[in-house]
Amino acid sequence: MTLIEMKRTSIVLIERICATRNVAWFLILLIALALCAPGKLAAQKIPVLPGIPEPPKPLNPIVAPTAPSRPFTPVEKAYQRAIQEELKRQAEAQRQQKEVKTLESELTKLLAEFGPTARYFYTNYFIYIYDTSDAYAKWCSTLVENAANAYLTFARKLKLPIQPIEEPMIVVIFSRKEDYEAYLKKVAGSEIDNAKTKPLGFYSTGANRSVFYDMTGVEKTITEKTNVTKKTTLEEIATAILRRPHAQENLSVVVHEATHQIAYNLGLFDRGSENPAWAIEGLAMLFEPPCGAIKFGGWKPEKDFPINKQRVLEFKAYERSSADARPVRRCVELDRISGEEPCAYPLSWAIFYYLYKHYPKELAYYLYYCRMQTPRTTYSDVERVTEFEYFFGDDWDGMYLQLKVFVESLILQSNGLAEEEANKLARKKYNVPEEEVQEKGKNSKKKAGDKSSN
Ligand SMILES: [Zn+2]
Repeated sequence: MTLIEMKRTSIVLIERICATRNVAWFLILLIALALCAPGKLAAQKIPVLPGIPEPPKPLNPIVAPTAPSRPFTPVEKAYQRAIQEELKRQAEAQRQQKEVKTLESELTKLLAEFGPTARYFYTNYFIYIYDTSDAYAKWCSTLVENAANAYLTFARKLKLPIQPIEEPMIVVIFSRKEDYEAYLKKVAGSEIDNAKTKPLGFYSTGANRSVFYDMTGVEKTITEKTNVTKKTTLEEIATAILRRPHAQENLSVVVHEATHQIAYNLGLFDRGSENPAWAIEGLAMLFEPPCGAIKFGGWKPEKDFPINKQRVLEFKAYERSSADARPVRRCVELDRISGEEPCAYPLSWAIFYYLYKHYPKELAYYLYYCRMQTPRTTYSDVERVTEFEYFFGDDWDGMYLQLKVFVESLILQSNGLAEEEANKLARKKYNVPEEEVQEKGKNSKKKAGDKSSN
């Protein structure tokens, strides 16, 4: 950073303080000035974009899966508070500009679009519009509502931003695949036209709608659109649906797409901006494995999200293929996650799950940082990589090795081994010496301790 750039950064921050008169911004100024001290600049890799407060300090790079996640420092907490204030201000400014979408206005538009015979119901966050039986719609909506509640728990646990929703979230459920595909083309043509295989469910950021169809074919066995009576329990409905072929896949698709919709609408990602693609998909894949009792529809995480066995298989298949020289870096560079890029889904899942399990604070901080870059119309692969390196280190080969150990340990754990034993065997398989890992972990802890005293 040159002297001129340092001055420019300070001026931008001073302007912001004058504009907002917010005490939190004053804290940011102090942080930014502290960072501009000689000797600190060499460690600063992350670009400072116009209008965005500079983050407080680089975090420790990831060195080992056993290293404990360090607590937020007081400076970082102040930064987070400032971000929360800024997000609120942005949301309010957007709300004032936009047409107010109320429940009534949305329902009127939906009925005009789908015809007066369309069925619908609504909850606190969602409007469901469907041509399936009430039973099938009830099952889908249960999954979506459970996903929303699980997201709130997840966001509170990681202390992620939660914005009030600006408009009701709309979920469209079709009985027939043909109708689903025709509708998909209408609302999200450009978003899916280039995909070789059509998605089984879809969340359109443009339309802000999730769209599904009955993959299980259960609707074909129902000749009349029977109403759900008070006597029909969710357990009875879910039992009937989950016996059908493709039911588990159907369930995962609904939860996956709903997670996208919820994360965008509650403020983790921004619909009008470029976002870290791997994190968007990694989060949705964290949510997708079936879990919980059938009386909750077959999806409701109890303590935490279970291992995603489908993604474990995909990761192992990718690992055997050795498709990319630096797969973690390749995955982080991507501006769109698609099946055409071999590393995209398995690596996005593995990176997100690994960071969520072992570095939740660092992951939260990264997500905060990315969210604060909005509105962002361009997001180059260099920027994506630089920001990731800033928070998680630049040892890409080392991180891929840790992911391999992590996934191997997950397999052993799902076969009944205790976590510690599974980690030990997984490290042995990949020749990652335990002593070295522990030593690095200790160093990391020490550094984290040093930083928290600032
Ligand atoms: Zn997705």
